[in-house]
Amino acid sequence: VSPRSDTFDLAALRLSAGEGRRIALDVPVAAFELGGQSYAVEPPTVPVTLDVSRTTQRGWSLRLRFEVELQGPCMRCLEAASPRFAVDAREIEQPGGGEELESPYISDEEELDLTAWARDALALALPPQLLCREECAGLCAICGENLNEAGPEHHHEREPDPRWAKLRELEF
Ligand SMILES: [Zn+2]
Ligand SMILES: [Zn+2]
Repeated sequence: VSPRSDTFDLAALRLSAGEGRRIALDVPVAAFELGGQSYAVEPPTVPVTLDVSRTTQRGWSLRLRFEVELQGPCMRCLEAASPRFAVDAREIEQPGGGEELESPYISDEEELDLTAWARDALALALPPQLLCREECAGLCAICGENLNEAGPEHHHEREPDPRWAKLRELEF
């Protein structure tokens, strides 16, 4: 059983340059607010694999991997959706390497903010729309019916049938 971790003390690994370690951790990730809807992260405490390598000049090379489900309404048809996402993120910290080689998740005390990194990495992995399925047909723009259930034969006449107009002319 891996410990539940909001942060991880990199310095405590006491790695020398060229050494690495693979660590299993459980990281809490809060629900996402997207488009005014709430999407729960399942499981809320996410099992992650953290690869840590100590680089030269007291730098770090990190890799974080995990899989989660987001649970909330489909953005097209509003039915319950639980799309699954695999996250594979990397961070580099190289003191003296300039801003680009500074990780926002590693403090001066070499503490890694796992919660913030996992959350940002997941946010980056999300598509613009969360759907119940990739080919979700959504709702009918005219009557609001769920087109996944109504099927492809569901449609509305755009114009009144011209034959009715003809009939009316004959009647009056
Ligand atoms: Zn849908
Ligand atoms: Zn319709």
